[in-house]
Amino acid sequence: MTHKMPVLFIGHGSPMNAVEDNEFSRAWIQMGQSIPRPTAILCISAHWETPGTSVTSEENPRTIYDFFGFPPELYQQRYNAPGDPALAKTVADLVPLPVKADTSWGLDHGAWSVLCRLFPKADIPVVQLGLNQSLTPEQHYDLARSLRPLRDQGVLILGSGNMVHNLRVMRWNAGAFEWAAQFDSQLKNWIDEKDHTALVNYTRAGQAAALSIPTNEHYLPLLYTLALQDAGEQPEHFAEGVVFGSISMRSLRIG
Ligand code: ZN
Repeated sequence: MTHKMPVLFIGHGSPMNAVEDNEFSRAWIQMGQSIPRPTAILCISAHWETPGTSVTSEENPRTIYDFFGFPPELYQQRYNAPGDPALAKTVADLVPLPVKADTSWGLDHGAWSVLCRLFPKADIPVVQLGLNQSLTPEQHYDLARSLRPLRDQGVLILGSGNMVHNLRVMRWNAGAFEWAAQFDSQLKNWIDEKDHTALVNYTRAGQAAALSIPTNEHYLPLLYTLALQDAGEQPEHFAEGVVFGSISMRSLRIG
């Protein structure tokens, strides 16, 4: 018997959350301890955009340091979880688009900076699914729905991004921009009301959305998590807060 697995979205923020003790890293550790042990993990990270649909298929994915200017201790982190070529194949079979089996990537920091908190032993196989750059938000949502059978097979699906993410205007020593806090709370309301139409069509929200989601690679992983929600499931917000003025750390568990 396998449990029906929950689905997560984690607002990952700075890669330093992999090594810093703070309210977010503590919330991720707790979440890892509170969910059933998955047979494998499928991660949709903001940090892997691909020209078509790709899935990592290596046996031993490398840890990728896709960030610059951070302290040496961050570059010493390794997340040595195995890959899962069989799961990569299952994903390719479920997705109704051509899927490339990729051996050039590995685990980017959108995946490992969070996974090293959720599952510090790195003993659960991990596969990443790329964000196909040619798809609309609605097509991403539809693609994600095709992954639903995985929840019944013990696979934990993890979206890793940030719902509000504007690096251009980040600030270190002041609180959240009003527009960022407002849009974050608008998103929370839509999530709680299960208004996925509004969430998929976020650009209709105009200026607030344009400021909060200037590019959508950090937002799209949320659509994967939401698309896997079953009727009757209510999302739990297990972390929240806007940091650096314009980055929402809001994180969800569904199921
Ligand atoms: Zn990021």
